[in-house]
Amino acid sequence: AFRELSPVSFLQRAAEVFADRPAVVDGADVRSYAEFWDRAQRMAGALVARGIQPGDRVAVLAPNSPVLLEAHYGVPLAGAVLVALNTRLSAAEIGYILQHSGSRLLLVDDALTELAERALGELGADAPEAVGADRFERELRGAEPHRHEITDERGLLSLNYTSGTTGRPKGVMYHHRGAYLQALAMAYHAQLDTSARYLWTLPMFHTNGWCFPWAVTAAGAVHQCLRAVDPAEIWRAVHEDGVTHFCAAPTVLTGLTEHPAAARPQQVVRVFAGGAPPWPALLERTGELGLDVRHLYGLTETFGPAVVCEVQPEWASRAPDERARLIARQGIANVIAEPVRVADPEGRDVPADGETAGELLLRGNDVMLGYYRDEEATAAATLDGWFRSGDLAVRHPDGYVEIRDRLKDVIISGGENIASVEVENALTAHPDVLEAAVVGVPDEKWGEVPVAHVALRSGARTTEQELIDHVRERIARFKAPRYVVFGDLPKTSTGKLRKNVLRQRSRTGG
Ligand code: ATP
Repeated sequence: AFRELSPVSFLQRAAEVFADRPAVVDGADVRSYAEFWDRAQRMAGALVARGIQPGDRVAVLAPNSPVLLEAHYGVPLAGAVLVALNTRLSAAEIGYILQHSGSRLLLVDDALTELAERALGELGADAPEAVGADRFERELRGAEPHRHEITDERGLLSLNYTSGTTGRPKGVMYHHRGAYLQALAMAYHAQLDTSARYLWTLPMFHTNGWCFPWAVTAAGAVHQCLRAVDPAEIWRAVHEDGVTHFCAAPTVLTGLTEHPAAARPQQVVRVFAGGAPPWPALLERTGELGLDVRHLYGLTETFGPAVVCEVQPEWASRAPDERARLIARQGIANVIAEPVRVADPEGRDVPADGETAGELLLRGNDVMLGYYRDEEATAAATLDGWFRSGDLAVRHPDGYVEIRDRLKDVIISGGENIASVEVENALTAHPDVLEAAVVGVPDEKWGEVPVAHVALRSGARTTEQELIDHVRERIARFKAPRYVVFGDLPKTSTGKLRKNVLRQRSRTGG
């Protein structure tokens, strides 16, 4: 018989093999793998003592901290389902998720008590029981270790709610087997080993931190906590603490390249860029800084990266801009996933000609079980048993897929499709442009026209007309922005550009 797969087993193993090695570092607080495993089992014991039963949902509202990391093991060790909440949501949104997930308990970091109280206030009598992290810590210390045996690897491990930019947040259902395999894929693609030191720049509540809570543990590497994503602190951690791995949305990378502390590290530093497309000019800059940037593509629905850019050895001999373009272009299915498909609306595969676009379809162990209590949304996201990513892609003759744009961000102008990313890449190729976001705004004649929102580098002098001309020299004229709005760009908690906000801004002219 085969053992049922669960990522929880990584910690049990690490506690045996790497018992005294540092596992979790939070400022001056350092915990070993033996302690980590002991605490996770006691957390499970404390949950059981509170009446939590197998299958119950346990919500956690906490920043990247030891307690949230431990909950990735402690909650399943109680047989329960983890609901890690985005700390930047409003009280109403948190209330909605608590209610929709049917959470029985809410564990709250002491700095977030007020937000939690407001969220619970929204629910009245339906509110789950809440416990502060300080009080829970005492319960954990006094609890008996508990270990629920995972008997079904397809069982629910966690519910991860989407950011809800397109409506109500949806509860993505993860299973043990998927998270186990995806964590191994991550450890492989990230080249994690015992000497690695992973900096927690990515919020753990998002996609379970792309499976790094498990991948880093599987490797017996160090988890280094980080409360706020601040370029100065990231550079300090790289230069002084010897951090070797971290994740960064493209906008986080921009902050790093622009920071005065930006300097080539002594150790090899692998950075996982994803969440949004990193543009070639940015990858060239990070290359100059000696950062080994790996480009990953994934969604909440895939537990982390579904498509990875495998850098071919021969790319090393290419010019830096060409190499950056190839890395930005994207990649192939990760090591545990099924080969991806790109299909037209009728579900027919598009040719691998690097031109014909279709929707990227995914299937395999890295895909969710479905949306929790939402059969309609699950059905809408499924095509012949494949998960519809909602992203537009093309297939290249070399087998790589290139993500062109989100289907909902594609601008349709005079019947022509304009990928917002293509216009953004043309803009960011201008030396004065730090970041760019292009959105479609309604237009009587053309249906929609592209409008650019641009953040400039400090001291930049370029003008709206110069940028429009710059784009026209690079791509078709009709793709050039109608006008340019200068200013800071709004971002989500994972550093993604909030195009829905920009679309609204463009419409109201403010
Ligand atoms: P919601 O679904 O709630 O609106 P969201 O779409 O931002 O939020 P996520 O699951 O966080 O939810 O993001 C997944 C999306 O991010 C992908 O569908 C894709 O559009 C984009 N994305 C992620 N990585 C990349 C990448 N490397 N290149 C291009 N796009 C990417």
